[in-house]
Amino acid sequence: MGSGQVTDWQGKNVTVAGLGVSGIPAAKVLHGLGAKVTVVNDGDDARARAQAAELEALGIAVRLGDGATLPEGTELVVTAPGWKPDKPLFTAARDAGVDIWGDVELAWRLRGPDAAPWLAVTGTNGKTTTVQMLAEILKAAGLRTAAVGNIGVSLLDAVLGEERYDVLAVELSSYQLHWAPSLRAHSAAVLNLAPDHLDWHGSMEAYAADKGRIYEGNRVACVYNVADKATEDLVREADVEEGCRAIGFTLGAPTPSQLGVVDGILVDRAFVENRHKSAQELAEISDVEPPAPHNIANALAAAALARAFGVPPKAVRDGLRAFTPDAHRIAHVADVAGVSYVDDSKATNTHAAEASLAAYESIVWIAGGLAKGAVFEELVAKSAGHLRAAVLMGADRALIREALARHAPEVPVVDLDRTDTGAMLAAVQEAQRLARPGDTVLLAPACASMDMFANYNQRGDAFAEAVRELGAGA
Ligand code: ADP
Repeated sequence: MGSGQVTDWQGKNVTVAGLGVSGIPAAKVLHGLGAKVTVVNDGDDARARAQAAELEALGIAVRLGDGATLPEGTELVVTAPGWKPDKPLFTAARDAGVDIWGDVELAWRLRGPDAAPWLAVTGTNGKTTTVQMLAEILKAAGLRTAAVGNIGVSLLDAVLGEERYDVLAVELSSYQLHWAPSLRAHSAAVLNLAPDHLDWHGSMEAYAADKGRIYEGNRVACVYNVADKATEDLVREADVEEGCRAIGFTLGAPTPSQLGVVDGILVDRAFVENRHKSAQELAEISDVEPPAPHNIANALAAAALARAFGVPPKAVRDGLRAFTPDAHRIAHVADVAGVSYVDDSKATNTHAAEASLAAYESIVWIAGGLAKGAVFEELVAKSAGHLRAAVLMGADRALIREALARHAPEVPVVDLDRTDTGAMLAAVQEAQRLARPGDTVLLAPACASMDMFANYNQRGDAFAEAVRELGAGA
């Protein structure tokens, strides 16, 4: 189907892979454009049947219980981003010379001729936060915008809906990037790169290559993390438009073409008149909530993208001040008896947990859950100096216990030996016993939550609930 916008969908045979949050709207939109849509889905449960009935009533064909076979005559496959590239359906499509698009590629191809440009963000951690900060900054500059993609408004709605935008702040996962070969952002940032989702991508190289796609064809700026060389390597490898610049962000003093921090001030030495001699003040560290180092990095990345789009310095400051973090991301729950309780349930991998453990001096760390193949050696070795004690729970807690024994043998560890939901209250009570005034009790599990909870939200809520019980008893 080439790489341009497809305007004539009439009678085109499109197979949509996967019923779900991206598949159902994609099927409806393509059907509405006149395509002959068949949805294929692995599952055949009650929910899938109800969804299928709804689509069939519109005249969309649905095949349940077989997501592997490519329907006869397919001219294009549109897949849910989570489907693994090695599925037989995709092999068959590739063998037949049929293009495969993800939800992002579909939105990109369907956008109108005068569509809003995209400022795109990816990375292992910090995507949602950065995109929300970016949207606030763009709004503060008086631009019509929204945080879209993995969060908030879906990309399809953003490009096809009634609402007119000047620019979009787009969060993209590595899966979405894998399936978005022709996406060309105005400017893009890769925040950081740590091993994650390797079972899906096959290897760290493949994961990095998919993340790196975000830079392909950028027009104005490729924003990278000075402290994470892998992100800079991706910029170097990218094929960008003539004149597109590499812009670094750093928690240290910036060199020319970087944004950084000087004496508690976020400064821009990239988008200023004379970057060799001068720097522009953007905001203060205290304008960023929470002012933890990794979050300052997120703010700098958001600022870099906004400045690449021509946003004035004052809007950067006003936007950062207007930003409030989502729940369960380093959320301060309460102070009880001089101890601060912080919920970072969203720290579902070691890279995220490392960032939040670096943000506090003396921590009673509540951790554990599903490790998803992670190793904890580096995390524990780097964080040992901040740990007063650790309280462990969840299916893979032994991995963390062993890492603590190796790299932080002096840190007291309580192994709750529990994976039931009620373990959170016990964990918080143990943490209270171990903490001294001035300490932080930090839930930063470094693991997924599904062994004990429905999701990280429920895990964080259980923590907050337990802290409230402590407070009530204090
Ligand atoms: P994502 O959308 O990439 O999952 P979020 O903004 O939701 O990222 O943050 C997820 C978690 O990652 C946070 O709870 C925090 O622990 C951690 N985090 C956020 N920003 C960073 C960063 N720049 N580097 C490392 N960890 C981070």
